[in-house]
Amino acid sequence: MRASQYFIPTMKEAPAEAEVPSHIYLLRAGYIRKLAAGIYEYLPLGLRVLRKIENIIRKHMDEAGALEVLLPILTPSELWQETGRWEVYGKELFRVQDRKGRWFALGPTHEETITDLVRKNIRSYKDLPKNFYQIQTKFRDEARPRYGLIRGREFIMKDAYSFDVSEEMAVKSYEIMKETYHKIFSELGLDFLMVEADVGAIGGKYSHEFVVKAANGEAHIVYCENCGYAANVEAAKYEFELDKLPPEEPKPLEKVYTPGVSSVEEVAKFLGVDPKKIVKTLVYILDDGSAVAVLIRGDRELNETKLINYFKALDAHLASSEELEKLGIVEGFVGPIGLDIPVYADISVKDLHNFVVGANEKDYHYINVNIPRDFEPVEFVDFSTAREGDPCPVCKSPLKETTGLEVGHIFLLGTKYSEAMKAYFVDKDGREKPIIMGCYGIGVSRLMAAAVEQNHDENGIIWPENIAPFKLQILALNTKDKNVMDIAENVYKKAKSKGIEVLFDDRDISPGAKFKDADLIGIPYRIVVGRGAKNGKVEFQKRANSEKKEIEIEKVDEILDELV
Ligand SMILES: [Zn+2]
Repeated sequence: MRASQYFIPTMKEAPAEAEVPSHIYLLRAGYIRKLAAGIYEYLPLGLRVLRKIENIIRKHMDEAGALEVLLPILTPSELWQETGRWEVYGKELFRVQDRKGRWFALGPTHEETITDLVRKNIRSYKDLPKNFYQIQTKFRDEARPRYGLIRGREFIMKDAYSFDVSEEMAVKSYEIMKETYHKIFSELGLDFLMVEADVGAIGGKYSHEFVVKAANGEAHIVYCENCGYAANVEAAKYEFELDKLPPEEPKPLEKVYTPGVSSVEEVAKFLGVDPKKIVKTLVYILDDGSAVAVLIRGDRELNETKLINYFKALDAHLASSEELEKLGIVEGFVGPIGLDIPVYADISVKDLHNFVVGANEKDYHYINVNIPRDFEPVEFVDFSTAREGDPCPVCKSPLKETTGLEVGHIFLLGTKYSEAMKAYFVDKDGREKPIIMGCYGIGVSRLMAAAVEQNHDENGIIWPENIAPFKLQILALNTKDKNVMDIAENVYKKAKSKGIEVLFDDRDISPGAKFKDADLIGIPYRIVVGRGAKNGKVEFQKRANSEKKEIEIEKVDEILDELV
């Protein structure tokens, strides 16, 4: 492709709303353009990347025996009503009405649609298992679309749905997808982790997320380099047994005067004790308005997702000063002894001796507190946020911490949709049973952004080879020099004849502008035809490092063969 005939509208500056590297560079390098909030156009370069990602996904899904279909974007509201999601989805569901007043949703996901297809067409165990997938545009009316392709309102997904006759077979289908996802993300050239997802109704074992490591990711992950364990910080089990203080003889409870001293650091300093022996008492208001107190050791952070999951609440927040006052609780000096609301404790408090808590009285703390002598929590629960250095729950090695972007999610659904929508099959024994389902998503357009988040420098994108829009870029530095142009044309033709995807920058612009654009666009390999041309030399460069190699024009063939 000749750049002079192509369309790469690069920009010197990204708009102010672009905050993260993928958003900035995909706009600046001419891959995408914004049409409206969270809605983007893919320009020729962007579409090439997108197609490559799609094709790698398609290849591995096909190899795994999944069958590609294409389901409608417009999905009738009646299907959503059958599963109750017409209401549950709320404002995120894009709803449209046809001329007769019938409601439709622009599909954010397709469980209902595919289950409808299966219940109408599959009757017998002989027709199962099946796994259907599609690569298609999805819609979600995000309250705050942002970060370009990372959180859009219109985006491209690969979604797959498996149908099996038994739980055992469904787990097999799930395992096949797990393996397939490893192959896909490896071939895409991304550094990723498979993460045990937040333990919901089905359990962590059959829900995994695939996360691309990136500095700006919203997922917080702990992982083990020794055994491969990885989990979201809110799902990771805290191995408190390995982090306990040695046992002590209980000392008598004492109330001490601690004027104006209330944070863990202040109290530890004032009393001269280890922060691990200061126990924080946090008061939370649950979504039903009730208040609970949660104790946690001074050196640990409470994880609100774990808290919300434990109380099966939709939401929970730390009590405000006003809410504490209403409850008659002294802010800054809250403690479990004599408190009128239910007290729960993080497991970090278990087996802790002679510790410090607030005395529910201004400027006072209790020291030498012991359980169960002085108070008893309703229950010990794992509320701790996992962090770097914690022991791995599997092999006990110290965990590492990273952030990342979720790009894939696999889930064993069970019979949630098949029962709600009466998708039954007749088994060998002649009995009707609900089909067991699994669902498997990959954010295709999000992957394009994730790849950039992981692979860039201060000058632009550095594409992994397998998803780069072109493999090779030829830069002719002085288009007025006939010798330069003859050599560049010759290299271009050779590269094309060898089947290399090549972009030839033959535009009549300054060498500086060409280099800047090339860095921004991020094609992995580069042949520069410039001053050396008169001595029969060109330069071979890699985008990933600034290494340059001068080569004889006769040797260009060897380089091109290597690229093939
Ligand atoms: Zn481990």
